[in-house]
Amino acid sequence: MTTYPNHGRIDGPIVMIGFGSIGRGTLPLIERHFEYDAKKVVVIEPELDDHTFLTQRGIHHVEAAVTRENYRELLGGLFAEGRGFCVNLSVDTSSLDIMRLCREMGVLYIDTVVEPWAGFYFETADNAARTNYALRQAVRDEKARNPGGTTAVSCCGANPGMVSWFVKEALLRLAADTGREAAMPQDRAGWARLMQGLGVKGIHIAERDTQKSTRPKRIGTFVNTWSVEGFIAEGFQPAELGWGTHERWFPEDGHRFDTGCRAAIWIARPGAITKVHTWCPTPGPQFGFLVTHNEAISIADYYTVGAPEAPEYRPTCHYAYHPCDDAVLSLHETFGSGRIQERHHILDENEIIEGKDELGVLLYGHEKNALWYGSRLSIEETRDLAPFQNATGLQVSSAVLAGMVWALENPRAGIVETDEMDHVRCLEVQRPYLGPVEAHYTDWTPLKDRWSKFAEDIDETDPWQFRNVLAS
Ligand code: NAD
Repeated sequence: MTTYPNHGRIDGPIVMIGFGSIGRGTLPLIERHFEYDAKKVVVIEPELDDHTFLTQRGIHHVEAAVTRENYRELLGGLFAEGRGFCVNLSVDTSSLDIMRLCREMGVLYIDTVVEPWAGFYFETADNAARTNYALRQAVRDEKARNPGGTTAVSCCGANPGMVSWFVKEALLRLAADTGREAAMPQDRAGWARLMQGLGVKGIHIAERDTQKSTRPKRIGTFVNTWSVEGFIAEGFQPAELGWGTHERWFPEDGHRFDTGCRAAIWIARPGAITKVHTWCPTPGPQFGFLVTHNEAISIADYYTVGAPEAPEYRPTCHYAYHPCDDAVLSLHETFGSGRIQERHHILDENEIIEGKDELGVLLYGHEKNALWYGSRLSIEETRDLAPFQNATGLQVSSAVLAGMVWALENPRAGIVETDEMDHVRCLEVQRPYLGPVEAHYTDWTPLKDRWSKFAEDIDETDPWQFRNVLAS
């Protein structure tokens, strides 16, 4: 029988909000790695179709949606003893409000995205207010207003989340491979100086998901390997990216922010139809979608050297996501028809016949050109490693596990993002679930082998300008 490391005891209730694809994958890992009072585990989920897992374990199910109106009473009641852990893996619940309440009560908190209350994504008229920049900045402002206190880990999934730990490992690898002194920086300024010194111009969060099932996607169904609702919501937000100091061109429809960290810009078009040139080990060069993500902003912010408004150095950073083929087809249909499909389907571990999720960070523009560093987790390995999830899910749920361990070990760290956590400890916990974690150098650039029979708006003097990365 396999034995798993015990990562400590959680005193008080464990309340999981949302029991969708990530919640179902995370609960077995909690069960496997923590000690706790099983009678105090609660799942709040308004739409549970299969109760087997919860009833088999005697887990209390609250069949309700957490809302702006009920969250104080509902969570206040469940955490009446003033300790425990709130694991927020839902959509349509305000991360900020719930994290604030948890900290007031002395309850540890973790989520995987800065989620707003229902309605925000599609009912906010002002595009700048609909960005992840705005959502993240509200959490950063809360941290600045109320420093320290009970730990609340913001955005600790695969991405945002694990990829911030990969950036640090990749920097240390690049430093060693270019003959630099590779002592580990001890603070944010040190990490930013290291990235600057290595000449990194930017980072793609470069992902290729090749998981597929035998059943072809049907018209009218949106298929994905994780939350369809979550993906559609972020896909309809404006494209956003951390904006680096090496950029010489500015997108015609680009906008800066004049408050907050200033690390990012937004482009006046949905991210899910904004294509970029990028690279992953299996396909080599590929298109990705520039879907907005919290880490594009947090990483650009964390690695800024100098004043936010006029930095000496900042990397460009954005997501470059090739989701599973069925999701690409689903997006094509959504944006082509102007209608969101009525049927949503998340491919589960039983129906996926092959494929992997290749998720890493592509550090580019330095003396070795580009380095991809990440996890190449297959569905077969996933099935061997943990139940109730596909490869995408395990990269996320194992990051939640790592974030929970870190929070238990650092219970008074205040509000933190994954850039601010100990990446060595977090990856120590997470790595057993990631399949091969590999470094790949490539000589690919956005201008290499470009199919170009038509004149393009490119800058041949620097292949790594965002102008060359942006495809359409
Ligand atoms: P999912 O759509 O499968 O599940 C979300 C669940 O939340 C659903 O079961 C839904 O019924 C429930 N829910 C909806 N409204 C609720 C409410 N008001 N109160 C309580 N529960 C509610 O999504 P998922 O794939 O499990 O993803 C969960 C969250 O994790 C999403 O916010 C998603 O964006 C995020 N996520 C983050 C990463 C990352 O790497 N950072 C990756 C995948 C998913």
